[in-house]
Amino acid sequence: MDEKEKKIMGAISTLNTHQFFHLIHSLSSEFWRQQHHLCSLLQSPTRFPLTLHHLQTLSLHQKTLLIARYLLSMLTHITIFLETNKPNTSTTALRVKDLDAALLLMLLCQVHQQEPQALQRSTAQWRSVLKDYQVGTSLSMLGGLGGSSSAVLTPFIDITTRCQTFLEAVGCGDEMEREVAASVAAVVALPSVELSGGVECAICKEEMREGREVCELPCDHLFHWMCLLPWLKKKNTCPCCRFQLPTDDVLGEIQRLWGIIVTKSI
Ligand SMILES: [Zn+2]
Ligand SMILES: [Zn+2]
Repeated sequence: MDEKEKKIMGAISTLNTHQFFHLIHSLSSEFWRQQHHLCSLLQSPTRFPLTLHHLQTLSLHQKTLLIARYLLSMLTHITIFLETNKPNTSTTALRVKDLDAALLLMLLCQVHQQEPQALQRSTAQWRSVLKDYQVGTSLSMLGGLGGSSSAVLTPFIDITTRCQTFLEAVGCGDEMEREVAASVAAVVALPSVELSGGVECAICKEEMREGREVCELPCDHLFHWMCLLPWLKKKNTCPCCRFQLPTDDVLGEIQRLWGIIVTKSI
C-alpha cells in the first residue's frame, strides 16, 4: 500500500459504523453508475466517436482539469463525512459530456498502460478494443462486488490515488500550493453574528465593539465584514487559524479536500 492509499484508509477508519455504511453505499452506487455510463458510451456508435473527438481537441491543460474535476467529485464521497464544521459547498458532480470524456480518458490511460499494443490499431477500431477490455475488467470485478466492502473500496482508492499521481506528474502538485479565492457560494453563506463582548479583528487589529454585526467563519473566528471580504477574494483561509473555506478553483479544492483526509488519517 502506498502513502496515498494509507492516508485514505486511515481517514476512512475514523468513520463510525453508520457513516461507513453510507460511504460504501454511495461508492457502490457511484461505481455502478459510472460502469453503466461507460458501457453505454462504448455501445453507442455516435456518442463514442463524438467523445473521442472531443478528447482529441482538448489541450493537456484541459485534460488535466478534466481529471482534476473527476478526482474532486470522487473525493467528495469521503470528505462529506469528514468535514465537521462543513461550510456550504456547491455540487461537484460532472456534467454528462464531461463524465463521458473523463471516463473515456481514464480507460484509454489504463489500456495504454496494460495493453499498449491494443491502441496501435486505427482509432476506428478503438471502440471494439475498449469494449472488449471493459467487459473483461467488469466481469472480473463483478464477483467481488456482491457485498464485501473492500471490493467497493479498492477500485475507489485505486482511481483516487491514480488521479492524484497524474496531477502531481503533470506538475499540479506544486501549483496546488498557490493562493486561491474562497468560493462565492461559501462567502455568501457566511453568517453575520452580533457581538456580545469586545474582540479584536485579526486583520485590522482594531477592537470590534459589542452589539456590532460581524462575520463568523466556520472555525468560529470573527472579523469585520469590511476586512474579511477583500481577504477572501484573494485567499480561502482564515487569517487566524488557516481553516480553509471551499474554493471554485478545482485544484485548490482538491488540495483542501486532500488536506482534510490527511489531517483525519493522522
Ligand atoms: Zn477589521
Ligand atoms: Zn479561524
